[in-house]
Amino acid sequence: MSRTLAEVAAEASTCTRCRLAESRTQVVFGVGDPDADLMFIGEAPGLHEDRQGEPFVGAAGQLLTRMLGEIGLRREDVYIANVLRCRPPGNRDPLPDEIEACTPWLIETISIVQPVVIATLGNFATKFVLNTQRGITSMRGGVYGWHGRKVIPTFHPAAILHGGGENSRQFLDLRDDFALIDKTLRAVPEPLPEPTTPAATDVQVEDDQLELF
Ligand code: URA
Repeated sequence: MSRTLAEVAAEASTCTRCRLAESRTQVVFGVGDPDADLMFIGEAPGLHEDRQGEPFVGAAGQLLTRMLGEIGLRREDVYIANVLRCRPPGNRDPLPDEIEACTPWLIETISIVQPVVIATLGNFATKFVLNTQRGITSMRGGVYGWHGRKVIPTFHPAAILHGGGENSRQFLDLRDDFALIDKTLRAVPEPLPEPTTPAATDVQVEDDQLELF
């Protein structure tokens, strides 16, 4: 039996697998629907996230919430997490050993949520998830296969805010990427109804055979 997200988050809340445990205010595990079809992965918590214990609550998060609204979704309809669960001091880039220590939390999260579409926000999450050196400008606009799921890379909302904002070319690209997320989600077939009578076979599929990780 796999654990629930709440059980995993409770264990992660006392994590000391890397040095960020010493400087964080709290672990920022993730937020949203544990059954979501769509999951966002950002880089790492910033100042506001570290204080509030929730990912994407600062200015970048407000832009993310707004873009979700444009495709008819609320934060509660999706799952939002980061590659790292703790804030690097001064928002410096995550270090390789921190990423390695934190990756099991992300993998367990994905294996519980089982999202059909994963949207990676920015260069860092995109390179990490898709194991590529290609930058976000060349990756965005596409849908990539990854462990039976679809990955749609897009700009990090903070990059839009620090760039030209709503008047920039990147903002229009971000909007296009959210339209692509919407279209890809709509193409996901509805689950078929479960049979109401027992199947005429003794062969059972075990739960753990259905997990991708
Ligand atoms: N930037 C991120 O990558 N993640 C957050 O949670 C907030 C800002």
